[in-house]
Amino acid sequence: MDYKIVERSFFARIARMVLKSSNVAMVLGKSIHLSGVSRTEFLRNEGWLAHELCHIRQFQEHGFFRFLWLYLRESWRVGYYNNKYEVEARKAGMKHCQHESPAKRASGAVQPTGFPLPADTKKEV
Ligand SMILES: [Zn+2]
Repeated sequence: MDYKIVERSFFARIARMVLKSSNVAMVLGKSIHLSGVSRTEFLRNEGWLAHELCHIRQFQEHGFFRFLWLYLRESWRVGYYNNKYEVEARKAGMKHCQHESPAKRASGAVQPTGFPLPADTKKEV
């Protein structure tokens, strides 16, 4: 898939400050914006990468502004955790971890953040 990684992103840093989390990966169009996590650490985590790539596909499928609108609307309706775009991305992320033990899978899971954009954080990297 065609995507770009932006390290020490200004946008991801804002999200990170608002969320008070130690790391954030946020997808805007075809770019994955990172803050608090390096490109190397991020790419090493297949589940996390797969999750964010799923958001990139969602942007491509629906169009940039339309997807932002659909994402926000989902969040208003069903909450962030049940947002269908996050559910889909979580599933994509989990597929890569099927060989891991359930405990490790849970610890590696990407947390939806409650930020009104596809921004995700991880407890440990
Ligand atoms: Zn997500």
